[in-house]
Order: sequence, then C-alpha cells, then structure tokens
Amino acid sequence: MSKKLTTRAEDYSKWYNELVVRADLAENSGVRGCMVIKPYGYAIWEKMQAQLDKMFKETGHENAYFPLFVPKSLFEAEEKNAEGFAKECAVVTHYRLKSDEENKGKLIVDPDAKLEEELVVRPTSEAIIWNTYKNWIESYRDLPILVNQWANVVRWEMRTRLFLRTAEFLWQEGHTAHATKAEALAEAEQMMNVYAEFAEDFMAVPVVKGFKTEAERFAGADETYCIEALMQDGKALQAGTSHFLGQNFAKAFDVKYTTKEGKQEHVWATSWGVSTRLMGALIMTHSDDQGLVLPPKLAPIQLVVVPIYKGLDQLEAIRAHIKPYLDELKKLGVSVKFDDRDTQKPGWKFAEYELKGVPVRVGIGNRDLANGTVEVARRDTLTKETIDITNLVETVTTLLEDIQNNIYQKAFDYRASHITEVNSFEEFKEVLENKGGFISAHWDGTTETEEKIQELTKATIRCIPLDSKEEEGVCMYTGKPSKKRVLFAKAY
Ligand code: AMP
Repeated sequence: MSKKLTTRAEDYSKWYNELVVRADLAENSGVRGCMVIKPYGYAIWEKMQAQLDKMFKETGHENAYFPLFVPKSLFEAEEKNAEGFAKECAVVTHYRLKSDEENKGKLIVDPDAKLEEELVVRPTSEAIIWNTYKNWIESYRDLPILVNQWANVVRWEMRTRLFLRTAEFLWQEGHTAHATKAEALAEAEQMMNVYAEFAEDFMAVPVVKGFKTEAERFAGADETYCIEALMQDGKALQAGTSHFLGQNFAKAFDVKYTTKEGKQEHVWATSWGVSTRLMGALIMTHSDDQGLVLPPKLAPIQLVVVPIYKGLDQLEAIRAHIKPYLDELKKLGVSVKFDDRDTQKPGWKFAEYELKGVPVRVGIGNRDLANGTVEVARRDTLTKETIDITNLVETVTTLLEDIQNNIYQKAFDYRASHITEVNSFEEFKEVLENKGGFISAHWDGTTETEEKIQELTKATIRCIPLDSKEEEGVCMYTGKPSKKRVLFAKAY
C-alpha cells in the first residue's frame, strides 16, 4: 500500500471517502448518487444483515417481498407520507425505448409506450404494503402481522456520500399491523431497542435512544423513535428509526378488522428501518489514520495469518506447523485467512490488512518456526507481541473479545466527553463551533424555534432522549418555559 491516507485531522471528509474506496468497501458508479458496494464492503453488510435478521426473527418477525414500483394513486393515498417523499421520488412514465431514426445507434423513449398510470420507484413501502395488508386482514385473528423485507429503495438525494446518503440504498423495512395502539407502540419501541442492541453489541457503536421532534418525524408517522450515534468529527448520524404510524395508513387504505366483540376498527401500524448508512456509521466511529478498524463481530476476516517465507518448502512447513491451531480456531467459529499469495510481499500484506481493519494479524516466519513462536498484532491499538504458538488459540479468542470491548469503550468515552449541557444560545454557538458533539439544551417545543436555530447554526434536534429527565428550564433561544432538555448536533 503505497500512498498514505489523508488524515482525519487534515480533512475528515476526504479521509472518509478515501478510506471507503481504498479499503475496497465501495465506489462511485456511472449513475449519479448510486454506489457500487464491493465484495469486501458487501461481506460486512452481509454480516450486519445476518445478525439483524436473526434478531428480527427472535422477536417474531418473518421476511416477505413486495414490489419495487408503487402506482401513483396508491402512493398518494396517505397524504402526509406522499407529500413528505414527493420531492425525492423517481417516477417511471414509459415502458419502452425505440431506435432514434434521425440518430442511428441511439435510443429514444417511445412516446407510444406511455404508462396509463405512472409508477413511483419506492422511496419506502408503506403504501404498497398497506394496500396488500387490506386483503390479509379481516378479523382480530389475522393480527398481528409482523413482516420485514430486505430491499433497495430510491430517494433522489441531492447531496450524496458513499454509504451515508445515496440515491439508491439497501435496507430492511419492517411493517407491522396490530389490533391495539398499545401493542403498536410497544412494537415500535421494541424495534428501536433491537437496533440499539445491534449498534452497541455488534457494531460497538454507542447510541442515544430517543424520539424525533415533529419536524424531524417520518412523514406519515405519529411518533418516530430513533437511535443517534456520534462520529469522530463531532457530527451526529441517525443510525436507525422506528415509527409508530397510528391508524394513518389503515385509514388511507381502509384497513379494518373485526374485534372479538364484533366491532369494526382500523388497524394500528409501525414501520422501522436501518440501511447501508450503518456501514458509514461503522467506518466513521472506529477507523483511524491507518485505515479501517472493524469490530471483530462484524469483520469478514477476524484473523489473518501472513507467512514470511523463502521458497515453497518454508511456506509448507509454516502452513503445517500452524494448521492445527487454525483448525481449532475455525472450530470455535473464528474466520481465519491464511494469506499464501506469492504475488505480494509480507510488508505489503501487513499494510493492506491494516487498511482493511482485520482485527488480529499473525506473522510467522522461519525463525518463529524454530522458536515455536508467532507474532500477534492487534488492529485497534496497533500493538504487537510475540507469543508461544501453543497459546495462539487462547490469545486470539481473548483478543477478539478485548478488541470488541475496547473499541466500544473508546467510542463511548469519546461520546461521553462530547455531550455538553448549555444554558444560553451564546454558549450553544460557542460549543457547536469549537467542540461539536451533542449539545443538551432546553427548547420551547415549537417547530418555529427549531427551524430558526437550524437556520442560524445548521444544528438540528437529533432527538428528545428517552431518558431525558423532567426539569424546569427556559428555551435557550426564546426564553420560553421548557420541561426537558433535547439533544442538538450538526448531523450527516
Ligand atoms: P426513514 O424511512 O426515513 O425513517 O429511514 C430509514 C433508515 O434509512 C434510517 O436509518 C435512515 O437513517 C436511513 N436513510 C434515510 N435516507 C437514506 C439515504 N439516502 N441513504 C442511506 N440511508 C438512508
């Protein structure tokens, strides 16, 4: 690996983009705002998917699949949702191209192939799904419906960044239907908790759980729960959302059920999603100027072994010598790569695995063979030690746990030192400018004030934390009474 990465201190944004590309995670494509996720990046996403999918199933959900296209009339049905997403919709108007007679070799949209009804490429699937649920639900016996889909969606974002905000992105969207409000609220809260557990225990990313303000709420939701993470540059990132949709979609699509008592009632709904943006959160939370730092639980390769050898005999001797230990590790579920490529030198490989964030690297050469040792390096602290090879299994398994805990703790400490309470707008601007991070402040509860603060500072209310205590205070901007602090930050 020749050229060094731009450092975070030099240019955080450039560092991020370079890292994503150089670590082979993703790259820009020939389509505006859309990315190509490369095999190494996709392998991390698959690990995220597998774990989330397991957690969804453990909480009673099943997977299904719904169409990519939403007829415009269905899309319009829930007005707030439609209005909220309208500006970001890609719309299919024709179904055929034809040769351009005046311009050989070119194609034009065939004007005779205009769709009777335009199709919206789903920016989210409530409309198509609630139009379907209408046929699935008759009585209380049909409830709840607990369905998730893994899919792609399209939102015509104007300012895009790899993983963080793309025009097409991959995600999962859960869509549930319930007999009661209490049950739907509990579901929305449960899924926020599932997301938080996934972020903290697997991604090693600490998150704040909270509610969105009315202005930041999902279009069509009565309440949006969210998890918010803090990146190393002091900017926040919305990592996941879970919406209580009330009866809004049931009313829009006329979805009623017969209660036990024989009455007709509208169904209650939730929806919840996390996207490939989580990859951005993962990268930005842990990585350093040498490259990616991956939590062992999501690393496609957890241990890489780099043999240092001259000639095939030495290589085979090393391979045979270390094999029983690697077999043992594989049996324990550790993903191991023995990099015997003779096309690259060991030093090059060391740098490459550092860049790719492989948690543990073992180097083993001829001298180690004679001494019964190996050199073990950990990616998070970039420290190395030489150990007896008989301790390899124990050392690696312990290290993987240590690294997972250590990077979580590091991110937690960073966040803890970047939540600042302020009591005046002057103080707010000062902290925002010089320190960043989450700022805990009183706000008068109006959208007007929220928008004014955003206009003046670019900071938004990330959430009203679930654990925000009742406290008498005054809005830092208007001086009007406030009962709770909320968290502000500049955000991705
Ligand atoms: P929403 O449906 O707006 O609540 O978003 C669901 C999830 O997708 C949230 O975790 C968002 O942070 C994420 N998300 C929203 N827009 C984008 C985008 N353009 N690219 C990637 N992820 C996104």
